[in-house]
Amino acid sequence: MSENLQNRNEIILNGTPASPGIAIGPVFIIHDELHVPRYSLAEWTVESEIERFTIATEQAKAKLGEIYVQLANNAYQDGANIFQAHLMMLEDRVFIDRIHHEIGSKLINAEAAILDVGEEFIKVFSQADDIYLREKSVDLRDIIRHLISTLSGRERLDLSMLEEGVIVIAHDLTPSDTVLIRKDKIAAFATDVGSRISHTAILARSLGIPAAVGLRNITAQLKTGDLIILDGTHGKVILHPGEETIKNYQVEQEKFYAFEESLHRLTELPVITLDGHERKLSANIEFPDEIYAVKNHGAKGIGLYRTEYFYVGRDDLPSEDELFEDYKEVAQQIAPESVIIRTLDLGGDKFASYLGIPHTVSSMMGLRAIRLCLKYQDIFIPQLRAILRASVYGNIKIMFPMISGVEELRQAKEVLETAKRQLTDDGVPFDHNLEVGAMIEIPSAAMTADILAKEVDFFSIGTNDLIQYSLAADRANEEISELFEPFHPAVLRFIQHVISAAHEDGIWVGLCGEMAGDPVFTIILLGMGLDEFSMSPQVIPEIKRIIRSVTLKEAQELTREIMTLSTAWEIEKRVYEEAQKRFPELLAWGQ
Ligand code: PEP
Ligand code: MG
Repeated sequence: MSENLQNRNEIILNGTPASPGIAIGPVFIIHDELHVPRYSLAEWTVESEIERFTIATEQAKAKLGEIYVQLANNAYQDGANIFQAHLMMLEDRVFIDRIHHEIGSKLINAEAAILDVGEEFIKVFSQADDIYLREKSVDLRDIIRHLISTLSGRERLDLSMLEEGVIVIAHDLTPSDTVLIRKDKIAAFATDVGSRISHTAILARSLGIPAAVGLRNITAQLKTGDLIILDGTHGKVILHPGEETIKNYQVEQEKFYAFEESLHRLTELPVITLDGHERKLSANIEFPDEIYAVKNHGAKGIGLYRTEYFYVGRDDLPSEDELFEDYKEVAQQIAPESVIIRTLDLGGDKFASYLGIPHTVSSMMGLRAIRLCLKYQDIFIPQLRAILRASVYGNIKIMFPMISGVEELRQAKEVLETAKRQLTDDGVPFDHNLEVGAMIEIPSAAMTADILAKEVDFFSIGTNDLIQYSLAADRANEEISELFEPFHPAVLRFIQHVISAAHEDGIWVGLCGEMAGDPVFTIILLGMGLDEFSMSPQVIPEIKRIIRSVTLKEAQELTREIMTLSTAWEIEKRVYEEAQKRFPELLAWGQ
């Protein structure tokens, strides 16, 4: 094949870089079956259509049962629980009978009946006051997909179908996809929607899987088995690559591995500037089994343990004992280093599309995170008790997300005191000196940092949310991703203000948003006086290399200079100039 011909077949899709690295391999498409065929039935075919539905239900149950056993046998109990809940719903008589009735009374095909009845149930569940019922709608959405994919013979995501090294392509990913994607088999993934700061992207980085998001219509352009190149570093996907292109990317892939290897050699070295100032680099995790990666990349403890995964995609709330076992395991494994457990941060972009909580109730600016916990204390107190009980097994700190002001912080602390009193009355031991922190991720909290600092032991700045709320730019919406501007002078002033206010009151400050793990910001955050940087374990060596390559004095000078600039563009340009001079090899990612 001539080179011209090869190149003519190639299509380059540009999206958003989500997680660095290069993958070359066949794709596995996860179809969005909710767009289903709809046709009318002759009356005499109703019985056979119901029979077709019954067979599909049995097949779906068998398949889900297999996935359940696979996950349970591989110690992915949280994932297994999701599928157990799905199986139970497939046996729900009310649901099944309604579908039979819909087929018979409206004379429509089974796929359409499942979709109509399913949507109706989802609507009821998602508007319920009861959070348990609202969560059920997440499962229901997955079940509808399973049933429709069984009927249509098109797979969504089936573990047994995944060949080693496949690149998963989806419109978006659901909680149960995420559980499955944790398997080692997957080389990379790409989605039609999402932004660099969306939850899918964060997850990809935390798993160390190359990924590109926001590719708009990649799912429509490929079929399972097609060969692609995914360049997660640049957010690019090349469809139908020619031999020459593959060869070039294989060279790039080797370079990437070599680069990662060179960073690994830094693991044991201290995080210290050239003029002797030490800083703490810790890790953000979502699952206990990431602790291996945390230690492997030389993190000093866990600066953010996101605890939402325990609560989504299952039929009931986790019990206090389940949570306790999980937190205890993490505390024991990371000891003597500390783990900061963030209390439940449900809502907003996190699973909102799957949770089924109405947007008006749990939107980015709605009943989410600490607000939800303060309202539903029957959910909050068991989590606090579990954290407290686990605190005697290691070095646990606790922090509250989405604090908007001092009253809310006091209320959260009061609930913590209630949990402590309960445990004291029950004679259960806990660490009485457990440090308590507040996440600073709402502008009102940033502006009142001096007041909040008197109430807590530390701050952790959540820039993912702080940026979106400061700039009124939805972090998960790729249409306005250029407005989500971390270099905006307002954002940098907020961060500087929070750090200075905290230090004035003698407390330490961490930053656990994505900025902490982005090499471009390291020098200025250092210059602002940040004490702890918390990020995906995989990027720790890069950030360490930068901190070890500058003096604090130089960092402070650069920070002072950029704080006088007026526009994000000027700041970005100046910071890049400096970064380009000092560590060009670290800047490839995301450009
Ligand atoms: C943040 O908002 O910066 C943060 C770390 O929390 P999350 O991304 O989980 O909202
Ligand atoms: Mg946040």
